[in-house]
Formats: sequence, structure tokens, C-alpha cells
Amino acid sequence: MTVIESIITMQKEAEALRSAGRRIGFVPTMGYLHEGHLDLIRLARKHADVVVMSIFVNPTQFAAGEDLERYPRNFERDRTLAAEAGCDIIFAPSAGEMYPADDSSWISVEELGSALEGAFRPTHFRGVTTVVGKLFNIVRPHYAVFGQKDAQQAAIIRRMTRDLHFGIDILVAPIRREIDGLAMSSRNTYLSDQERKEALALSRSLRTAETLFAQGERRSHALYRAVEEELTRSETVQVDYIGIVDPDSFLPIEGDVGPRTLIAVAARVGSTRLIDNTILGDEATPS
Ligand code: AMP
Repeated sequence: MTVIESIITMQKEAEALRSAGRRIGFVPTMGYLHEGHLDLIRLARKHADVVVMSIFVNPTQFAAGEDLERYPRNFERDRTLAAEAGCDIIFAPSAGEMYPADDSSWISVEELGSALEGAFRPTHFRGVTTVVGKLFNIVRPHYAVFGQKDAQQAAIIRRMTRDLHFGIDILVAPIRREIDGLAMSSRNTYLSDQERKEALALSRSLRTAETLFAQGERRSHALYRAVEEELTRSETVQVDYIGIVDPDSFLPIEGDVGPRTLIAVAARVGSTRLIDNTILGDEATPS
């Protein structure tokens, strides 16, 4: 496995691979890898000849006061895990090169980017779409793989890729969970033992909705209340939102939910903000 830090070197490598007829699969991450990230590498491997993973803690997707400085990093560990999972190239640029001093261009996906996460983190998705657009222009992939864990992000990237004609197939991998149901996240490392237990309220609330749905419950407000009840059992858990939405448009579903409905939750457990989601009625997305 090779590590590339320079943008021009990565671009030249991508050009050479394309000229040789190799299909490039791309997995953008912020590092501190866990099994969820490694699943994305494995999915990319199934489609592509060469797998590139970027590791870049992107400053523009963090607002002032968020966890940019304390975001966990361990490059050596990431390098070993990525290689074992089948990654061929790690692209790890510097923030200075990714964002030249007078950088003033942004990509933003409107509407989709202002619901749920966008309402709580108004500048977040603009940072994500801008960095992913830059990375697409550097890595020149045929496929790019994202996690269902960040469902709204995946929908926004899909929309951006279509709207801006990037010509890249977007693949989405299911949420990888710990044995007790907690969705894997680099941020789980912030949780104390007690908070780690309280954090299970997120996945438990989604399981409750899945069970009700399987029993025939279709009323959106009833599903909402069941999720809310589970999430607010503990005072340590502060709910940011519970969204019952269409998984593509992210428009809220009122009245009865249809055959494919996304329930997305965000909550703070102590000072750690966590998100999780499930698609009701979608057997292809086990959770
Ligand atoms: P991050 O490093 O947190 O920015 O995540 C990089 C990619 O990994 C994103 O596409 C995430 O959606 C995906 N990802 C993060 N956690 C998980 C998980 N538990 N299961 C599946 N994909 C994940």
C-alpha cells in the first residue's frame, strides 16, 4: 500500500491508473478507522481494481466550538488497518494544500442540506460537499463509497454528483454496529463508560420503531413518540432531532409512512454528539 500526500502526485497516479484501464474506487474518511470504515474499503474492492482511501480531518465541516482540535487521530494504526482491509493507496493531504490561503469556492447542495443535520450544523454540509468535490477532482474515481451511518450526507453527495455531472457511481454501505447495537463512530472514543451505556438509547429507539413498524404501525406521529420516549428516558441524553423522512428528499413524512421511510436521530450524550438512523421496510439495509 502506498501513502500519497501531494495533490499533484495523486492526480498523476489517478491519470496513470485510468489510462491503464483500471477502475478506481474511492473511500473518503477522516481517519481513526473502525470496522465501519473498513466495510467501505471492502465494498469498494468488490467494484474497483484499485482502492484509494483519503484520510483528511476536514476543517470546513466543523463549526467554531465543535471538536476539530480534539478529533481523534492515529495515522499509523489507520495505515495498518486500511492495508489489511485491501486498500491500495492512502491519500492524506495537508489542510494547507487542500485549502490554499485565498481559497474562496464552495459547493453547496440546497434544500437537502438544510433539513435535520443541516438545521443543527448550518455550515457542515457545505464543508462536506466542498471537500468531497475537491477530492473527486484529485482522485478521479469511478466509484465512491459512503456509509449509511451518515444517511443525509450520502443523499447529498448523490445529489451533488448527479447535479454537477461528476460521472461517479455512489455506493452506500450499511451501518456497522457494535455487538450491543451502538453505531460505530470515531467519536465513540469520547464517551465515558457510563455515557457509552446511555448512548445505547439511540439504537434502542430505532429498534423500537422497527418493531412497531413490523407489527403494522404506520402512523408517523406514533413512531415519532415511541422513538422520543426511548430517547428521553435518560437525562444524560439530549435530543437534537428525530426525523421521519423520505430517504431521498429528506422531506418529513406526516400521516402514514410509506414502504421506505428513514428515521434519523441525533442526540448529545454528555458533550458527545451522536447520530444514528434506520430505514423502515428496507431489508437490504440490515441494522
Ligand atoms: P468519517 O470518517 O466519520 O467522516 O466517515 C467516513 C465514512 O465512513 C462516511 O461515509 C461514513 O458514513 C462512514 N461510516 C462511519 N461510521 C460508519 C458505520 N458505523 N458504518 C458504516 N459506515 C460508516
